[in-house]
Amino acid sequence: MNLFSKLDLNKNILKAISEMGFEEPSPIQKTCIPIILNQKDVIGQAQTGTGKTASFGIPMIQMITKKPKTQGIVLTPTRELAIQVSEELRKIAKYQGLTILPIYGGQSIGHQIRALKQGVQIIIGTPGRVLDHLRKKTIQLQDIQLLVLDEADEMLDMGFIDDIEQILNATPKERQTLLFSATMSPEIKKLANRYLNQPESVAINRGDVTVPTIKQVYYKVLDLNKLDSLCRIIDHHEVDLGIIFCRTKKSVSELTESLQARGYIVNGIHGDLSQSQREHVMKQFREKSIELLVATDVAARGIDVGDVTHVINFDIPQDAESYVHRIGRTGRAGKEGKAITLVTPREIRLLRSIEKEVNTKIAGQPLPAIEEIKAIHQQQWKKQIIDLIENHSEEMKDYQYIIDDLSKTYEIRDVASAALHNAFNEKYMTQPSQEVYDFGETGAKPGMVRFFMNMGRNVDLTPKEVMNIISEEIDIPVRMIGKINIFDRFSFIEVPEDVAPFVYEGFKNTRVNGYRVILEPARPRS
Ligand code: AMP
Repeated sequence: MNLFSKLDLNKNILKAISEMGFEEPSPIQKTCIPIILNQKDVIGQAQTGTGKTASFGIPMIQMITKKPKTQGIVLTPTRELAIQVSEELRKIAKYQGLTILPIYGGQSIGHQIRALKQGVQIIIGTPGRVLDHLRKKTIQLQDIQLLVLDEADEMLDMGFIDDIEQILNATPKERQTLLFSATMSPEIKKLANRYLNQPESVAINRGDVTVPTIKQVYYKVLDLNKLDSLCRIIDHHEVDLGIIFCRTKKSVSELTESLQARGYIVNGIHGDLSQSQREHVMKQFREKSIELLVATDVAARGIDVGDVTHVINFDIPQDAESYVHRIGRTGRAGKEGKAITLVTPREIRLLRSIEKEVNTKIAGQPLPAIEEIKAIHQQQWKKQIIDLIENHSEEMKDYQYIIDDLSKTYEIRDVASAALHNAFNEKYMTQPSQEVYDFGETGAKPGMVRFFMNMGRNVDLTPKEVMNIISEEIDIPVRMIGKINIFDRFSFIEVPEDVAPFVYEGFKNTRVNGYRVILEPARPRS
């Protein structure tokens, strides 16, 4: 049974959610969905990664009707987020027959106007572009029932407050308003006081979670090569018996298959398996005939296996409580265990909030270098070859005539190397690349990215302060930081390409001497 069915949701939505691979509502969803369905306003404090999009998306889609009028609007700070939110909402609305349209700057306005003319029930847009359409009268907001301010703190940081207020004022007063923000600054509270009607506050922090005393680390990874990063981590740690946690049952199946294809001895469990399938996988795990078990939180709940050496959070857990549950599966009976969490740039703040709540420092580690992994692999191949020669000489006989034949023409050493290459040839993993975060040409040294920062000596900013933020909040070693130039009203910071997305995301909502920091990719000096 899908645990979403306890919430008052219709069949179409339940079916869509199940196809998305969600097994149970995340903590923020559990609280938010009933409140929103009850038509109350909400202030939600939640970072990316907590499931906040679906927490407003699911009730929104259930409440909005098919009549050809714009009834829902979500404002987001960036075009990327607008696209992401609209993709998630479209998946939820798959069987509900609603039209959902993202509108953002940079896309042809004519194209958007044509799309709007078809009749759109939900708009997801950046404030500037929504306002353009409002002025052109190409969108009407008089039928809005539900308005969402997503990542409100970031919208304020970007100076969208006037645009947001104008949009809010163009919607009916009796609308329902939801505000989500990672931080609750006085400005956010002011905005909420002004435009929300007796809102309920929802946060994922629950307090009193005690974290087991096991070694905890995290790795910065990019979505795009998360699988490669995971493989490096598994190889580096020489995991004996590990559980890998994924967010959805869909990702459990996909990851299990990908790891199997790469030669790992692994199987997966999630809520869609039959009882006997589950038992079969669990038996394999208990008997250690598999090294790795890939699981969702729900599926892992029943697991009680004593000597799990590693817990790996392939997807970061959605709150501190789930973090504690997951990592508690290792280090049983006084044995040493290790908990490893993979964190993408947008999730770095969720990691920090988990850290704060469990009151433990989770140390960042650099991804193991390819050379290191290569060396580990070569040791493993050697062991396998020795084992074959010493223990399976009979089976080797089948191949000897090929060697005899080839050795007439070639050196034995070359023949053996070619055979090894053939047997073990693997594509060495690529270095993290910048595809998802394309900062363009920033005028930095090769291999570095240069950022523009909206403050300088005017707020008594010092290079030391900048270095402290980068090293402490974002966990990037000081020696990796490039040039820092501080001017009267702005500054420039150079950081290595592979950590640039983390610096960019990590700086959001940071304050220096009371002033909000805005970081943008610098433009090259002309
Ligand atoms: P968000 O915090 O909205 O950015 O969501 C982060 C990720 O979690 C997205 O990929 C969602 O699709 C996924 N997600 C949201 N809710 C759930 C859930 N209940 N179970 C599993 N995954 C979820």
